[in-house]
Amino acid sequence: MPLVPLRVLLDHAAENDYGVAALNVNNMEQIQAIMSAAQETDSPVIIQASRGARSYTNDAYLRHLMLAAVELNPTIPVVMHLDHGNSPATCFSAIENGFTSVMMDGSLSEDGKTPSDYEYNVKVTKQVVEAAHAQGISVEGEIGALGGIEDGHGAGLSEEEAQEHLTDPDQAEQFVADTGLDALAVAIGTSHGAYKFSRKPTGEVLKMDLIEEIHRRLPNAHIVMHGSSSVPQELQDVINAHGGAIKQTYGVPVEEIQRGIQNGVRKINVDTDNRLAMTGAIRKVFHTKPEEFDPRKYLSPARDAMKEVCKARMIAFGQAGNAGKIKPKTCKEMVAFYKA
Ligand SMILES: [Zn+2]
Repeated sequence: MPLVPLRVLLDHAAENDYGVAALNVNNMEQIQAIMSAAQETDSPVIIQASRGARSYTNDAYLRHLMLAAVELNPTIPVVMHLDHGNSPATCFSAIENGFTSVMMDGSLSEDGKTPSDYEYNVKVTKQVVEAAHAQGISVEGEIGALGGIEDGHGAGLSEEEAQEHLTDPDQAEQFVADTGLDALAVAIGTSHGAYKFSRKPTGEVLKMDLIEEIHRRLPNAHIVMHGSSSVPQELQDVINAHGGAIKQTYGVPVEEIQRGIQNGVRKINVDTDNRLAMTGAIRKVFHTKPEEFDPRKYLSPARDAMKEVCKARMIAFGQAGNAGKIKPKTCKEMVAFYKA
């Protein structure tokens, strides 16, 4: 099965009331971890790379690793998605390099840091939608701005400032009508990176009711939750037990994400949890077996640890068991879909 556009997966997820984890990668072990988790749970997958990942890995390595993933897992529909494109040019270069889905994040200016205005956001998002849909490629856009900085993207807003850039439901409605995008990322108080909340989040800081309101107004929109790692205590503890120094932090509880899925959330971005799992596993080997120097001796446990996180999310979000039920469509077939 070739790489599929995001829209195919999200339409199936909406029809069957589940969500799909979008997992970030920048190397072979991470792609292998995701694919073996998908294989074991029969899950469709969204694998995404940010600008930072593309420059770390190189598009040619990334493309061929992704092609290996689909070749070795012919029953799993796989989307290759660009996370936080900062300009139409970044999105177009991703499409040229085999991505089947792109995010045009026009909620920020081209520097990827400064919150932009609505007119700019519509202009760049619409430009990408028109060009991408002509090739059958899916597009995610964002309205409202998230806190935190990950891989150089994000507005760098503090927990408090992020509360001032939450998605406005009126504007979300207008944005979908003005751009014709496939997936809508919203800001509901989450942020990128490990340090999302300084205590277990309540409805005061994590606005799940905002998702309910957006879903009520836009029942057919596929909503995307960014910054949705759960930052489990046990992953923090493994790192700190083996010489790490992660300050106490709290993420987005899985049950809150499940509540989102009941209200139109179809794509859930998870990166930090996998990073924590890999780092903990590697630290443990370094700490307990200081004589080891073969990278396979610490990259294998790291890969296994990431795979366990991926499996847990695939099951919790409901995507498990759905890979075989999806009728895959190619980008070429989607061209006709968008024309209709
Ligand atoms: Zn994001």
